[in-house]
Amino acid sequence: MKIKTKLTLGVGMLFAMIILLALLGTVYINALKKDTENILVDNYNTLEYSRNMLLALDESQHNPAALQLFRDNLAGQLLNITEPGEREATTSLDRHFKALQQNLTDSSLRPQIRRDISQVMQLNMSAIKRKSVVAGNTAASATLWIVSVGTLCFLFAFVLLVNLPGNIAEPLRELTERIRSIAAQNYSQRVTFGSNNEFRELASSFNTMAEKLQEYHSSNLSSLLMEKKRIETLINNMKDPVIGLDENQQVLFANQEALSILSLKSNDLVGKNATEIAERNDLIRSLIQPQGTAGKEPVKIYADQKESYFQKEIIPIGITPTGEQTRLQIGNVIILKNITPFKELDFAKTNFIATVSHELKTPIASVKMSLQLLKNKNTGPVNDEQRQLIESIEEDSNRLLKITGELLNMTQVETGNIQMNIQESRPADIVHYAMDAVAFHAEQKNIRLELYTGEDLPLVKADPEKTSWVMINFLTNAIRYSREHGQVTVTVRQEDTGKVLFSVQDNGKGIDPRYTGRIFDRYFQVPGSSRSGTGLGLAISKEFIEAQGGSVGVESEIGRGSRFYFRL
Ligand code: ADP
Repeated sequence: MKIKTKLTLGVGMLFAMIILLALLGTVYINALKKDTENILVDNYNTLEYSRNMLLALDESQHNPAALQLFRDNLAGQLLNITEPGEREATTSLDRHFKALQQNLTDSSLRPQIRRDISQVMQLNMSAIKRKSVVAGNTAASATLWIVSVGTLCFLFAFVLLVNLPGNIAEPLRELTERIRSIAAQNYSQRVTFGSNNEFRELASSFNTMAEKLQEYHSSNLSSLLMEKKRIETLINNMKDPVIGLDENQQVLFANQEALSILSLKSNDLVGKNATEIAERNDLIRSLIQPQGTAGKEPVKIYADQKESYFQKEIIPIGITPTGEQTRLQIGNVIILKNITPFKELDFAKTNFIATVSHELKTPIASVKMSLQLLKNKNTGPVNDEQRQLIESIEEDSNRLLKITGELLNMTQVETGNIQMNIQESRPADIVHYAMDAVAFHAEQKNIRLELYTGEDLPLVKADPEKTSWVMINFLTNAIRYSREHGQVTVTVRQEDTGKVLFSVQDNGKGIDPRYTGRIFDRYFQVPGSSRSGTGLGLAISKEFIEAQGGSVGVESEIGRGSRFYFRL
């Protein structure tokens, strides 16, 4: 039965019973009232008249005026005849009283009248007795009915009180519990309310909703799992090692390549803290180091019984959570690009350049020797045209010698074979040596070479030969990229830090700011500049100075000149 019907019926029944109780009460109270009124009106008045008539009868023996009182009460009694037999007795009384009025001395009439009055009283007293029995019965039956209906009413109200709140509250409690479970993603929750009421419909709607949620959840979960599998397979099939870390350096994933170069099992790496593993694994330590400090130097790893080279790239991963503005850093992905094939080619190239440069040096040296012999007067006279040709050949062979020298230096730098001969050296010696070496060249271009040196310059820890080579390279460039009659200024001074700064300033064409960052890269030449060089001079200079613990730099403004410097 529906809750609404139950409530309507229950409350309706209670209402009806209360009305029935009120009706019964009213009916019985009225009946009792009527019973007592009957006694009062019908019989009490008659007894009153009878008592007054008896008193008047006795009084009339001495005072005939008392007969008037008798007459009045008899008249009242004649109008109040209510009981069976009372009419006859009252009529007899009236007849005997009338006889007495006509003959007051008749002594037989007074006892007769007394008997009549007594008869009337007797009849009314019997009636009072009988009527009080009837009133008693009415009261008993009223009590019975009222108690019965009241008990029924109480029982009904009690049953309602016990059952109805539970009937409503219990399903509501169960439903609330299930809704909470569903909110906690426990989608298998179902409700069953046995009785056929509104809650049954509610339960069926709730169960449908839970089923749909479960379906939606599991379909989402399976598609997410599918996507996860797909991405895992993708990462696993990548030829480059990939490691994913969360914001606390916890390893989230590592593909097969990464595990193989690290010689670790998945269980030893995934889910573990990378910083903790790094304490006992050097390779992991170098991998998780921020890119800046490790530089762009490739990571050398001995794997698969050979040396492999990897270029490390740390990609920071950030997300903007739904509904938020700020981006959250949630971890990093470390990708190691396998550059071993390029490294192998690079080695081959370096070896080739080293061999060729080395092999070229001897024939160039013999060409120069032959030129010296040709210039010697003992060899024989040469005309002007021949001298010019000899000078041109000498210039070209000098250039060739410079190029092969630079290439050889570069191969040494690339193979890490720079032999440094560091010693306490005088900065002035280095500078004078370099300036002397380019003096002729500067003179040819009418360029003024000036030198400013600080007083009491300290000794520097340097390889004098390599540092002079760098200085010569800076000066040669300065002269080459200056106009005729230009000026090249060399400054050497001690800085506040204690280091000695060597700089070469020219007022030549300057360098476009777009290229100053790349000027020290190997083989880099500013587009449009003279093609005669190799693009190696500045790169070798940087390597030489850094190998001695120093630093190099450039400041330049297009059209106004450049200043190349290094500190030792
Ligand atoms: P190169 O042998 O080509 O001169 P470098 O490494 O010495 O190689 O120089 C690299 C490039 O830097 C040159 O191609 C040139 O364009 C530029 N450069 C070097 N020095 C100067 C300078 N003093 N003024 C203008 N450009 C310069």
